[in-house]
Amino acid sequence: MTKIAVLGSTGSIGTQTLDIVSKNEDLQVAGLAAGKNIELLEQQIRTFKPRLAAVGDPALAKELAVQVKDTDCRVVGGMEGLIELAVMEETDILVTAIVGMIGIRPTIEAICARKDIALANKETLVTAGHIIMPLAEKKGVKIYPVDSEHSAIYQCLHGEKSESIQKLLITASGGPFRGKKRAELENVRVEDALKHPNWAMGHKITIDSATLVNKGLEVMEAKWLFGVDLDQIQVVVQPQSVIHSMVEFTDGSVMAQLGTPDMRLPIQYALYRGERRFLDDERLDFTKLGSITFEAPDTETFKGLPLAIKASKEGGSMPTVFNAANEKAVALFLERKIAFLDIYRIIEEAMERHKVVADPGIEEILNIEQEIYRWIEGRW
Ligand code: NDP
Repeated sequence: MTKIAVLGSTGSIGTQTLDIVSKNEDLQVAGLAAGKNIELLEQQIRTFKPRLAAVGDPALAKELAVQVKDTDCRVVGGMEGLIELAVMEETDILVTAIVGMIGIRPTIEAICARKDIALANKETLVTAGHIIMPLAEKKGVKIYPVDSEHSAIYQCLHGEKSESIQKLLITASGGPFRGKKRAELENVRVEDALKHPNWAMGHKITIDSATLVNKGLEVMEAKWLFGVDLDQIQVVVQPQSVIHSMVEFTDGSVMAQLGTPDMRLPIQYALYRGERRFLDDERLDFTKLGSITFEAPDTETFKGLPLAIKASKEGGSMPTVFNAANEKAVALFLERKIAFLDIYRIIEEAMERHKVVADPGIEEILNIEQEIYRWIEGRW
């Protein structure tokens, strides 16, 4: 029996994680956490019977506590509650399916408590990878990637030595605006940006896919997860999203992982710590697929990728600035307060005016995040 806690159980990754749990008797839920959606969280509590539930919003935590007082589930709130959930005695794996940098503290506390991590929350690794990876090694904690690209690489590396890696090839669908030029993107609407061609995901990551910021975050995530240099990572556009990523080895051999675009596969692979189990999803039918095509990303138009690489090269606190500026800019775009291309303008300006802090600690990272938020709020 593997006992799990899920941070972000009401989101896209969280609900798919619970779908996997509901189909496997040897997986059990010990804890669930969400931000605001207490109606769905209540349903999840009644179905999965966790011992603990955490709600990001403390006032909503109190409301939920009243609603579920007939169950054995205790409800906690705020950051303290998320941390209590992350370090629960009985859990084996914490699924970090929360969105944004809010995941940093609970993830670090879980690692300190020697919980393995099924990591979806890439923002955590992007901003604090220099703290998280050495800490995980010191504590003997495994980090299992949930992101489909990183899971694909992880699967390709099975039985391989890290010295044999020549290059990681991260595939990208290109998002809903692939092929469009800058002028065509000036007036795109939120609805258009949310129409991902292949994947159904949460709103923030869907916008990140449209800007290619998501691919940039994935490059940074891969650097930390697999311990490679940035110049060993190449992004290749593969619009059908059939190849989830590839590894080129020193002898020139290339391994790829293929599958239908269903996040339940990488989630299940992470929950079973790299063991294969049956999954009731669609299978690839190569005779119907016809062709798989490749192209280079358009980094002139979709500046999310080159800006991320620049932030990663400058290092220190710059990835935090990139990520925080993007988080806020995406929120403003979703609220229809800025245009699509303003997302790049905000990130670029935030990076330009920032003086890099080398090797920032958690407090510094979180302070810089707040500074960036305040700067953006004051301007847009
Ligand atoms: P969603 O927006 O669908 O879900 C986010 C989850 O985080 C919700 O459960 C939300 O709760 C919760 N949450 C937000 N703020 C807080 C808070 N302050 N305290 C507690 N919980 C909070 O996001 P996704 O599932 O799409 O993405 C989650 C993470 O996984 C992201 O980092 C994303 O980049 C990554 N990822 C996602 C993929 C996907 O296919 N969706 C693929 C690969 C990676 P509530 O809704 O109740 O407010």
